[in-house]
Amino acid sequence: MTQTNTAANTSPHTMIPKPDELDLDLYQAIVRQGGICMQRCSSCSLHTHPPRYYCPACSSPQFTFAPVSGLGVIYSYTVSHMSVEPAWQALVPFLTLVVELQEGPRIVATARNFELPTVKIGMAVRVITEAKGTDFAIFWAEPQ
Ligand SMILES: [Zn+2]
Repeated sequence: MTQTNTAANTSPHTMIPKPDELDLDLYQAIVRQGGICMQRCSSCSLHTHPPRYYCPACSSPQFTFAPVSGLGVIYSYTVSHMSVEPAWQALVPFLTLVVELQEGPRIVATARNFELPTVKIGMAVRVITEAKGTDFAIFWAEPQ
């Protein structure tokens, strides 16, 4: 069996993205709160990702960035067998997941500590964050 990212409990990223506007607000909230959070409408409580200026359900412009469980299931995934990014080349093959959180939003996360042959759509995962400075965090997904 091939296990992904066996040694990676920290990110291989060498280039840190510089989010702006609502994305920056979200990442700063994640770093400040020390864990995963999502935009939550103050009027109807809908969780939304990526963040938006108006709630897609009730159009309210009022929201917070609220902590969420990080628990969810694999909605989709892909296996990368090569990478042009030098920092990731030692980690191939690695999995990139779309995780549907219990709170509703779907997010993209990099998988770690998975056995590739065992990965299935619908598999339970936990998403955790790794802060990179004050303005960005990486989403990691691990088996529950
Ligand atoms: Zn709403």
